[in-house]
Amino acid sequence: MTSPTDPPAPPYYVFVCNVCGSDQVTREAWAAWDVATQAWVLNTAFDFAYCHRCLGYAQLDQLLLTSSPAALPTRTAAFPPASG
Ligand SMILES: [Zn+2]
Repeated sequence: MTSPTDPPAPPYYVFVCNVCGSDQVTREAWAAWDVATQAWVLNTAFDFAYCHRCLGYAQLDQLLLTSSPAALPTRTAAFPPASG
């Protein structure tokens, strides 16, 4: 049995910028306030994507990972999420 806190099952994907190949990409989205958890929760992700390496609009490629994301090195976020 799975719960919402379980890690996702494979296959695993990564989205990268189709110009520079960086995975430091984000998409425009709406967040909705969840009263029960007292946190902003992703509601809708739009098509507009931004590459934080190219510093501009990006088209994203979806790549299949050949190993678990847990096996990949961790890194510090280049664009930490805003608080509150
Ligand atoms: Zn890029």
